[in-house]
Amino acid sequence: MKAFEYATAHSVNSAQEMVADNGQYIAGGNDLLGLLKEYIVDPKILVSVKSLPGLDRVETGSKVWTIGTNVTVAQIEDHSAIRKTFPGLAQAAAEVGSQQIRNVATVGGNISQHSRCWYFRHRDVLCLKKEGDMCYARHGENKYHSLFTGNTCISPVVSNLAIAFAALDATAVVQRAGKPVRMSMAEFYAKAFENPTAHNSLNPGDLVLKVEIPTTRTHSAYMQTSEKHEFDWALVSCAAAANITNGKLSNARVALGSISPVPHQVDAANEYLEGKTLDEATVTHAADMILHGAKPHEHNGYKVPMAHALIRRTLLKLNA
Ligand SMILES: Cc1cc2nc3c(=O)[nH]c(=O)nc-3n(C[C@H](O)[C@H](O)[C@H](O)COP(=O)(O)OP(=O)(O)OC[C@H]3O[C@@H](n4cnc5c(N)ncnc54)[C@H](O)[C@@H]3O)c2cc1C
Ligand code: SF4
Repeated sequence: MKAFEYATAHSVNSAQEMVADNGQYIAGGNDLLGLLKEYIVDPKILVSVKSLPGLDRVETGSKVWTIGTNVTVAQIEDHSAIRKTFPGLAQAAAEVGSQQIRNVATVGGNISQHSRCWYFRHRDVLCLKKEGDMCYARHGENKYHSLFTGNTCISPVVSNLAIAFAALDATAVVQRAGKPVRMSMAEFYAKAFENPTAHNSLNPGDLVLKVEIPTTRTHSAYMQTSEKHEFDWALVSCAAAANITNGKLSNARVALGSISPVPHQVDAANEYLEGKTLDEATVTHAADMILHGAKPHEHNGYKVPMAHALIRRTLLKLNA
């Protein structure tokens, strides 16, 4: 690890001023410390955002709930009102890493975490994402990689919270160039879909302030499959949310993680679910639509049937 300075920001303005000098924000440090130790990033200064006032709370509302960037994953998991109103989000939080990780990992850090691709994480491998000239995973060890991408990098988004937020139509509020900018989860990751060097759509210095969740959907659910019960990322994850009235769906959303650089969502499938009753035929057809066009690589073909099963089970779980 290279030497760096460390500063604690007490206002959004001072955080952005300090980070401008080749700096990087640090929240819980779960992701960033690994990158520093492997010499993948070498900021001159780490700017702690943990003391920014007012960004460590969950605020409820009749139309929108707000979750501050410094709310921890454990707080979401344990929050009794979130468990009741957005059970899919609480379930996604409960599946993150381990209790120790959840205790310090923050919302902003979780959705901004960098690629987990093992080539990217190896200090000696200069792949496309590090501005090298090739993707080693495409013809190498691609067991954990994407089924969809818009560029040459096949590293998927692995943030559990991002997948649940996407299904809930949540919006990240990001401080950019002196003013707040609102981004859907699709927008938050769009650059990673298009550009191999990007992990998300944040520009240098952009600061995630909070995430806003509309209360328009009454039901939500999240499921994932992992190799290990704890201390691991999902092989595939799925979140779904909808209103259910007299057994019929409206405003349904399904999002998948670990299969694309963005939360994978298919508008046509969401539209197909409108007015439908949740039964085996409906969820199977939705899963077919969502996975249409998947392009497995040599070692990750198993993700297609796994994702299909997860979509079906997560949608059926909405009724539970
Ligand atoms: C063994 C292990 C297993 C894990 N399993 C899972 C899992 O199953 N699911 C999952 O989702 N995650 C998993 N994680 C990842 C973990 O949840 C993330 O590393 C963590 O959430 C990051 O949050 P943090 O607050 O520690 O971020 P940090 O490490 O402090 O920051 C991460 C990145 O976000 C940036 N950042 C932080 N805050 C802001 C902000 N407010 N605005 C802009 N940028 C910001 C930092 O500059 C850095 O680039 C796992 C991690 C480990 C080590
Ligand atoms: S998948 Fe992306 S991060 Fe992994 S080796 Fe290829 S370019 Fe690098």
